[in-house]
Amino acid sequence: MKRRIEDINEKIKKGDVAVISADDLSDMVRNGEDVKIKDVDVVTTATRGCMSGTAADLSFRFSEPGVFERGKMLRLNGIPALPGSAPNERAGYIDTIVYGTQESLHNPGYGGGHLFKDLVKGKEIEVEVDTTDGRTLEETITIEDMNTARIIGFRNCCKNYQAFANSKEGSVKTIFHPKYLEGPYKECSFAGCGELNPIQNDPDLEAIGIGSKILMNGAEGIILGHGTKSSPEHPFLMTTAEMYDMKPAYMGGTVTSAGVEVLNTIAIPIPILDEKTLKNAKVLDEAIDLPLMDIHDRREIGISTYGMVWKNNLKVSYDPDACKRCDECLVEEYCPEGCFKDYIFEEERCRNCGFCTTVCDTFKCDMGDLHVICEGKDMRIPVTYRASDRMGARKASLELKDRIESGDFLLTPFERLEFKRRWWE
Ligand code: SF4
Ligand code: SF4
Repeated sequence: MKRRIEDINEKIKKGDVAVISADDLSDMVRNGEDVKIKDVDVVTTATRGCMSGTAADLSFRFSEPGVFERGKMLRLNGIPALPGSAPNERAGYIDTIVYGTQESLHNPGYGGGHLFKDLVKGKEIEVEVDTTDGRTLEETITIEDMNTARIIGFRNCCKNYQAFANSKEGSVKTIFHPKYLEGPYKECSFAGCGELNPIQNDPDLEAIGIGSKILMNGAEGIILGHGTKSSPEHPFLMTTAEMYDMKPAYMGGTVTSAGVEVLNTIAIPIPILDEKTLKNAKVLDEAIDLPLMDIHDRREIGISTYGMVWKNNLKVSYDPDACKRCDECLVEEYCPEGCFKDYIFEEERCRNCGFCTTVCDTFKCDMGDLHVICEGKDMRIPVTYRASDRMGARKASLELKDRIESGDFLLTPFERLEFKRRWWE
């Protein structure tokens, strides 16, 4: 008989639910353990990394009623956004959507993702509104002044993602690298958390769907539907959560050589409903394809697996005694999080992207090589940058496990995600 969400919730309420993080389940399988359906009710999955398709839906009182007719354009800490959708005529309110990949006009390297984190931290935000009568009004607000502060992930949680290399001579600036991708095939970057990724553990979307409760940046949220450009081969989710309960450590902005990006952390519980959902959750990195794309035209040029890039190498370590205190520090120059400054490493801000290990021996991590047959040649291309942070994702999947085990997080019924338009055909 198929297990039901209600059955699992009863076990959660009684405190005898069996929860395993997806990567721990995969390790048990690797070690030859025969995990049966009676041994596990919920598998917690997660992903953390750059998620471009992210925006914040904000609404707040900007002035007393009657001070201005309508807002025409606004900037939050210099980041441009359009007022609306409601005109709020003479009401003094502003509604807006701020894109995570928008960059500040006066503070290069500061983008929407940084703004979202500053809001969640409770920092004051400078707001400028250009009004329809030609004035620019200024105000300072915090998240406490907002009646709506919500993040929407229009295109999050891809089943897994891709690796990128430059097939030509020279270097290419890209959102997939903090410096540039040097070619031909001198290095590669990749994204995706492999066997920990949510949809990779439920590839036919049978155990999660519209209405499934999730953790988005540590706050309870839900799956709204398919993400943009979702297809059976590359499914994405649209997700949302209120910002008020988010945790700054799970979110933020980052810098690439082609502009600012947004960081999110999303954890999703997969209810183990039957033998098939359990079998799917036992997926291993070694069995998950990692396609290599040419950065010039996003054409697939080879194929490897996540087993080549994730292998006991989640964390980047730093040895302060080995630091030579160089006059020009390449780590300080290129770290996308800015977490090495004046010879001090702020470890809690590091997202284990690993780029520092390629410019200085003081930082260490075995980043691995991508082994591919490309242009008829057997190639090993060194990984120099990871857009996903599996260490941070693991932390989120374990937090979700703790919350379910403590009875603090119940699962919700869901509606199946259908593809209503077969746009890819
Ligand atoms: S981290 Fe590396 S590059 Fe930076 S100062 Fe230390 S030794 Fe030099
Ligand atoms: S791994 Fe290195 S480059 Fe990446 S965020 Fe951490 S310190 Fe910065």
